[in-house]
Amino acid sequence: MIPYENLKRLNESFEPELRTAFEEVLQSGHYILGHQLELFEADFATFHSVKHCIGVSNGLDAIILALRALGLPEGSEVIVPSNTYIATVLAVISAGLKPVLVEPDVRTYNIDPAKIEAAITPSTKAMVVVHLYGKVCDMDPILEIKKKYGLYLVEDCAQAHGATYKNKLAGTFGEMGAFSFYPTKNLGALGDAGAVICNDATLDHSLRQLRNYGSDRKYYNDVVGYNNRLDEMQAAFLRIKLRKLNDMNRHRNLLAAKYRAGLNSQFIQPVNDKDHYDVFHIFNIRHSRRDELQQYLQQNGVGTVIHYPVPPYRQKAMTEYYTGMDFPIADEIHQTTLSLPCSFCHKEEEIDEVIAIINQFE
Ligand SMILES: *Cc1c(COP(=O)(O)O)cnc(C)c1O
Repeated sequence: MIPYENLKRLNESFEPELRTAFEEVLQSGHYILGHQLELFEADFATFHSVKHCIGVSNGLDAIILALRALGLPEGSEVIVPSNTYIATVLAVISAGLKPVLVEPDVRTYNIDPAKIEAAITPSTKAMVVVHLYGKVCDMDPILEIKKKYGLYLVEDCAQAHGATYKNKLAGTFGEMGAFSFYPTKNLGALGDAGAVICNDATLDHSLRQLRNYGSDRKYYNDVVGYNNRLDEMQAAFLRIKLRKLNDMNRHRNLLAAKYRAGLNSQFIQPVNDKDHYDVFHIFNIRHSRRDELQQYLQQNGVGTVIHYPVPPYRQKAMTEYYTGMDFPIADEIHQTTLSLPCSFCHKEEEIDEVIAIINQFE
């Protein structure tokens, strides 16, 4: 069996260092808002050449806090892609704002810049773009729209750690980049974790307050905040894995290149161009008989996942928001997409095997 993902195997090469880090944190007696977090924040900011990094509890909270830090009027409209993972939409709602869905480009799976302007109203205050599957969005036209309408830009980088567009890293295009370090992400902790990066000292201060009960000083609360901190243990683990992030992304690229060269023409493959360095959090293909294909692969020992079976606007939780609306491109992607094994845990030979099996599908 070739599993879609195997986190135990993925973390094996880090085991000695992770154990040392665990010991160090255990012995320090300091488990929240300490030295490890400061070090990780400095490392992650340096990795992105930005001034500030604020460690938080997870990726969902990273987006919520980023939106809260902007201080937008309640009910402001925020542009979000219609085919994102639901967390992006939930974050906008949790921040007291209104998510307005815009369809993706069916070739890139990212928000279609040509469709954004039609969704902008006088109430639109921000965009949350999502660099889905590990590909940065087409940022030039998005930045033009941002400027033309004076919108804030938050990037959901949960699937794009280390990905670039025109040599610029995901998370560094807008006011803030929000990251998840959920264990399966390209940079994954051993539990829940997340971060926001930015260059603005006021946003940095606001995010630090918001993640810690709205407080700078213990028992003095300036704003209505949350408990959204990143703990010392996860920060220590993340520091170790961050040093290998580029290597892990290179490995995913190697596996993706194998698929690219080996898959036959019945599968729609992800596009790539010289402006993008993709990090393949997900290597997806599309096929008109997707469910049958998934079943065939399962029977032949290949694990796959559908990202995602149901678009956010069709989720039961969203009935009060999108009833009567239609997002055909999101529907088409959700009906045809299938994610193949493409993780740091996979060996090249395993991908060769997947290719040999999948090409025999008929
Ligand atoms: C994983 C993910 C999130 C949420 O991250 P969590 O750490 O699980 O809260 C948000 N957006 C996207 C696109 C994701 O893939």
